[in-house]
Amino acid sequence: MSEAHAVAAREPGPMLPVAAVQDLVCRQAIRQREERISLAAALGRVLAQDVTAAEPFPPFAASTKDGYAVVAQSGPGTYPVQGHVMAGRPADYAQLPGRVSYIATGAPLPEGADAIVMVEDTEPCGDHVHIKVQVAPGTDVRPVGADLEQGALVLPRGKKLGPVETGLLATVGAARVPVYRRPKVTVLSTGDEICAPWETPGYGQIRDSNHIMLSGMALAMGTETSIDGAIAPDEPNRLRAALETALADCDVLITSGGVSMGERDLLPALLQDIGAEVHTERVLMKPGKPFTFATRTRAANAGTQLVFALPGNPASSLVTFFLFVAPALRKMQGRHPYALPRVGVTAAEPLKRDPYRPEYHRVTLSWDEALHDGLGGYRALSTGSQKSSRLMSMLDADALVEIPAGEGVIVPGAVVPAIDLRQL
Ligand code: AMP
Ligand code: MG
Repeated sequence: MSEAHAVAAREPGPMLPVAAVQDLVCRQAIRQREERISLAAALGRVLAQDVTAAEPFPPFAASTKDGYAVVAQSGPGTYPVQGHVMAGRPADYAQLPGRVSYIATGAPLPEGADAIVMVEDTEPCGDHVHIKVQVAPGTDVRPVGADLEQGALVLPRGKKLGPVETGLLATVGAARVPVYRRPKVTVLSTGDEICAPWETPGYGQIRDSNHIMLSGMALAMGTETSIDGAIAPDEPNRLRAALETALADCDVLITSGGVSMGERDLLPALLQDIGAEVHTERVLMKPGKPFTFATRTRAANAGTQLVFALPGNPASSLVTFFLFVAPALRKMQGRHPYALPRVGVTAAEPLKRDPYRPEYHRVTLSWDEALHDGLGGYRALSTGSQKSSRLMSMLDADALVEIPAGEGVIVPGAVVPAIDLRQL
């Protein structure tokens, strides 16, 4: 008996539709625990609690123009200037009737003033100023709480923190931010023929493109992932050992290769061997039919580890990453919603349908002003041959057009749903 057969032969189970596998995966993906971090480190993290405004913003009535604070009722006329109020330097006096105060944008109104006349509507007049217009009370005044009322919801939990969100957190003084922990992801390439990118491949060998790519994707999604990774051979004992090592300290393991129907496709059986529960091994989709999802329960209430064994062909590994791994990582990070967003795009060329499997066609999106009666829209241009080995088909792929199984083609001009890959 050869070593490859030291692994029990097994049936791969039914071929499940994409949505069923997504459901199955996301049911197992559990949100990480919370931690508190400094605002400076919060970019890219996901908020674990609603953030509300403890105080109104602005906290004081402020001028929105450079000009003169006035009592609106006084009306046009020439008035003595009682003082100058600058941003951050509030007046230490109450404004008297029949007087005005020079005021800068963002400065608090002196007590007693109720409107601003902008500089453009005034004229200096010795040590007086001529107010040329009648303004209503409240003109060019930003009242207390105009931008954020006290108690208002500023950011809901589940929100990924980008620059705007961190700006809002800064506004309300959230210097320590409750976020979900980042899942720890390990990536492992498998295959006897795979060598490291810096090695010269021998005859029959190819370089490992998947490791750096999949770990890059996981990193870009805000997980904790190491870029330097191992390559495991298609030899049961060494592969089993590599899986054990990889699973020693991670929340999610992503492997590539070794999941098809070949004699040396050992991943599903070995995962079962090491105590993982294999949930699915085949998905009704193109590319990416062989895809294994398994879970392993850790000792001592340490939760469940997710294992995604992706097909080895680079384009298949990425498409299955987007469809199954990405939503799971988003859910684990507490993102809401966790499904990747869809966009409606216009097919720029005929897209052939597969009679049996829904296809995820890689496209580049380009803005076309002529679409939709001149309102503009995205045209979807194929990245070319969709062979699953052709990594070039992923280059500049902004979206995956979902082509339902069936006869014929999607005709140019048809609006089709696409999974948007531009913001994972
Ligand atoms: P497998 O899923 O192991 O049947 O592999 C399918 C195809 O993907 C084979 O042609 C492999 O050589 C190729 N492949 C597997 N792993 C990688 C990898 N890490 N980088 C690039 N190609 C790979
Ligand atoms: Mg292989």
